[in-house]
Amino acid sequence: GYHKVLEENRKLYNQIQDLRGNIRVYCRVRPFLPGQTCNASTIGRIDDGTITIITPAKYSKEGRKSFTFNKVFGPSATQEEVFSDTQPLIRSVLDGYNVCIFAYGQTGSGKTHTMSGPNELTEQSLGVNYRALNDLFYLSEQRRDTFCYEITVQMIEIYNEQVRDLLASDGVTKRLEIRNSSQKGLAVPDASMVPVTSTSEVIELMNLGQRNRVVSATAMNDRSSRSHSCLTVHVQGRDLTSGAVLRGCMHLVDLAGSERVDKSEVRGDRLKEAQHINKSLSALGDVIASLAQKNSHVPYRNSKLTQLLQDSLGGQAKTLMFVHISPEMDAIGETLSTLKFAERVATVELGAARLNKENGEVKELKEQIISLKAALARQN
Ligand code: ADP
Ligand code: MG
Repeated sequence: GYHKVLEENRKLYNQIQDLRGNIRVYCRVRPFLPGQTCNASTIGRIDDGTITIITPAKYSKEGRKSFTFNKVFGPSATQEEVFSDTQPLIRSVLDGYNVCIFAYGQTGSGKTHTMSGPNELTEQSLGVNYRALNDLFYLSEQRRDTFCYEITVQMIEIYNEQVRDLLASDGVTKRLEIRNSSQKGLAVPDASMVPVTSTSEVIELMNLGQRNRVVSATAMNDRSSRSHSCLTVHVQGRDLTSGAVLRGCMHLVDLAGSERVDKSEVRGDRLKEAQHINKSLSALGDVIASLAQKNSHVPYRNSKLTQLLQDSLGGQAKTLMFVHISPEMDAIGETLSTLKFAERVATVELGAARLNKENGEVKELKEQIISLKAALARQN
């Protein structure tokens, strides 16, 4: 009884968030890794949506700073827990919405862990990418008497402002162009498009993508931390009675590490990479800021990343950012700048037009929440 009411209450709250069309921001804290235990932790209290960071005096007089997001996942949160909060958003791609999920954070904070999982995958450790596709397969199967769905994926990498195909079967990661009004409605029409129907196919494809990424790395040690990788899922659903076709698209983006690189310490290729990363992450910040201010001109064209995501940021799209932080005191500077960036993102409100249209629905949901709260109070 009690838990069910609580659960309903949360579901309705989330639905209202959906209707509001804000960018959702979830913060995830990486646990200490084996062998790291002697390093002090910066993580204070975690209370559903609020995280308190313990800081040295030079960062705050009080010795602590709090940040509030839609949700905070502590170090012991499982992959399954992280996914289950994302599930409704992902499901909306089957109804024809565009969805965009980012993993943001400094190198080593857990972005790839959240999106893909660790190197040695087990069923429990599968990341958001696999779970999302698996869920889409399951739901499309459930709806097969009413809809006929086709699910296809593309996987690309943006490195030094160049776009490359990671699913080329011959391993040739040719350079690609981004087009914002291609006939096929695809942002990167020339990237390999692969139909998928099962999780094992997806795992195979991601392994191919991973191999292609490694092959194209030159002398650099960990290219993945200096490029953005994007898995794009295209869903086309045909209503079997009316024949109407719905199209939804979901971008799952593992961003380049957000750490500031000390320019006095790097030269050549490293300096060029750092400049490209700064440029694209700040372009992302600028696009989000300009959406927040409802500017008529949004500077999507300032980077390949924002060009790619143009149709999935703003307007009707649903956007979620997983912001990752490391728990170590050594990382405090990056942790605070990551959380400040995230807090700015969290204030963005998108899709005012939809909000107006669905005001009635919001009102109705709010009334339901009030009555559920009353029911909850009665049970206590
Ligand atoms: P990033 O992609 O941000 O550079 P990774 O995802 O590669 O960081 O994470 C760095 C290391 O920490 C990896 O060994 C990863 O398996 C581990 N790790 C990250 N997040 C978690 C987590 N939530 N639980 C357990 N290990 C994690
Ligand atoms: Mg990574």
